[in-house]
Amino acid sequence: MSRPAVPAGRGGAGLRDSARRRIGAWLDRLLPPACVACGESLEPGTAPVCALCWHRLPSVAAPRCRRCGATRLLDLGGEDRCAECLPWPEHLRRAGAPFRMEGGAARLVHALKYEGWFALGGPMGEALAPVALEVCGGSEHRIEPVPLPAARLRERGYNQAELLARSLGRFLGWPVGAALSRDDARRRQVRLGRDERRENVRGAFHARPGSTDGLPVLLVDDVLTTGATAAACALALRGVQERVTGVVAFARALQVMGPS
Ligand SMILES: [Zn+2]
Ligand SMILES: [Zn+2]
Repeated sequence: MSRPAVPAGRGGAGLRDSARRRIGAWLDRLLPPACVACGESLEPGTAPVCALCWHRLPSVAAPRCRRCGATRLLDLGGEDRCAECLPWPEHLRRAGAPFRMEGGAARLVHALKYEGWFALGGPMGEALAPVALEVCGGSEHRIEPVPLPAARLRERGYNQAELLARSLGRFLGWPVGAALSRDDARRRQVRLGRDERRENVRGAFHARPGSTDGLPVLLVDDVLTTGATAAACALALRGVQERVTGVVAFARALQVMGPS
C-alpha cells in the first residue's frame, strides 16, 4: 500500500490562532510526525495520514444513484434519482463523493478544514478524480471551488475546497477557476436543516464569467450535505451563462440514510 506522496505540513495561520499554530509547528518539528486519524508514527516527509487509515476510509456503497452518487435504497422509478436528490433543484444535475462523512473521512475533513493540515489537500483532492471523471462523463471541465465567505477566508488563511480543487486540477490536467465569491453576512450552514440551508445560501454567491475556454464547470467542495450550497453556486454561474455539470466533494453526509 502506498502512502499519498505529498509533503507533510500544517499551516494556514489565521491571525487569531497564529500563536497556537506557531507552537504547533514547533512541536511538529521536535516530535516524529503522526497520523492525524490514528496517531501512528509516520516517516517524515509523507502525508499526515497513514496508509491503513487511508485504505479504511468509508466508501459510498453501491448501488449508487446515477444523478447524485448516494447509495440508492429505494427504487423511485429509475437509477437517475433517489430519496437524497429528489428535493434537489433541476439545475444541480450531477454529484459524486468517494466517501461517507463518518469515521476516518470525517476526521480528515476536520483536520483539513479546522486544524490547518493543508497538506491533506493533495491526496484528498486526488481521491476525487474517479468521481469527477464519472460525473463529467470523462470530458475536460473547468474546476471551480466553492468559496468561503471573505471574513472566514481571512481567519482561516486558506479555503479547503480550493486546496482540493487545485490538487484535482493538477492530477487531471484540468484548469481551476476563481469565478465565484461569497457574501460574509450569513449564518454558518453546519447546524441548519435542509430548508434553512437553502434559504441561508440563496443569493449568497456571486459569479463573474470565467475564462473564455468554453469548458463546462465542475464544482468542488469538501463536504456535500443537502446540495443547497452547490445548487446556489450553480445558479450564480448559470446567471453569467456558464454551464455547470455538477459537484464533487470528498465526503457525503447522507440525509435520508443517515450515519450507519
Ligand atoms: Zn492512521
Ligand atoms: Zn440521488
